Amino acid sequence: MHLCGPTADRCFRNLRKVLGKTEPRLQQIRQTHKLRGSPEFRSPCDGNSANGSTLVLDDELHQKDWKMRRFLVAGNWKMNTNRQTGVALAKELAAVAKMQEPGVEVLVCPPYPYLLPVGEALQGSAVQLGAQDVYFEAPGAFTGEIAVDMLKDCGCGYVLIGHSERRHVMGETDEIINRKVVASIAGGLNVVLCVGELLSEREAGQTETVLDRQMAGGLKGVSETDAAKVVIAYEPVWAIGTGVTASPEQAESAHEHLRKWLTTRYNAEFSSRMRILYGGSVKADNAESLLGQPNVDGALVGGASLKSASFVPIIDAARKLAK
Ligand code: PEP
Repeated sequence: MHLCGPTADRCFRNLRKVLGKTEPRLQQIRQTHKLRGSPEFRSPCDGNSANGSTLVLDDELHQKDWKMRRFLVAGNWKMNTNRQTGVALAKELAAVAKMQEPGVEVLVCPPYPYLLPVGEALQGSAVQLGAQDVYFEAPGAFTGEIAVDMLKDCGCGYVLIGHSERRHVMGETDEIINRKVVASIAGGLNVVLCVGELLSEREAGQTETVLDRQMAGGLKGVSETDAAKVVIAYEPVWAIGTGVTASPEQAESAHEHLRKWLTTRYNAEFSSRMRILYGGSVKADNAESLLGQPNVDGALVGGASLKSASFVPIIDAARKLAK
């Protein structure tokens, strides 16, 4: 498989990290592929790298190419902003993310009442609109709830489901979360499924057990085709809104575990394509080290997404790594 420009450069940089391999192994990969370098192994991005040399990768290893997984930088505004400040923020973001970029997707999730004006302010830009929650029933007698169709009607492409505040403040169970996931996918929304352990669970050594339970619960009965509409957000509860960030190593270890879970539940190819975001006090000064981890494919950002001055540098960190 021949990979062009940024794809190949990033792929090789990250293969080094992912595989922990040294140059001889990379040479071996190149060699293997040269031997198999027939047209059927060529990718759509067939071409030359930025520096003019053609890079060649083994197909199987190319699945580890996280370039297949575009970064997603998502802002969760929670119960913040008003119409005026929300629209102003959206306009600022629209101005810095005018065009679709190959390596980075940007998403904002404002409060329900501002979906329409924020969506309008984002018109013509590459910034996507999402909601912070949804109800699983079709429109009807469910006072105070919002249906999937309504979110679609307001221009949402994404919805956050299972955010820790929904789980731990509003008492949402894995069963409720699963119903929301299933209804959202059926209604044509992309889902950001949030999972993460409490501090007490981490301290008791239960992080992976909790993640397994939340993943199994949230994705119960979700086929591989439907799961392709899902992005996972690993958000350790102790890091959300606390200013305490998981170290890049802690984040990577949890993400690696989640990817293994996806491999077991679905398959390796699918798992290699699934995006796993990190969330929990992501800021300009830690974004690059977190997003630079092989299995971290973006960020779900709360506090720092409320001002373009703090959100744009996080987008820029993703842009830099995507090059
Ligand atoms: C969040 O709301 O999902 C979040 C991660 O918040 P913060 O970035 O403020 O920790």
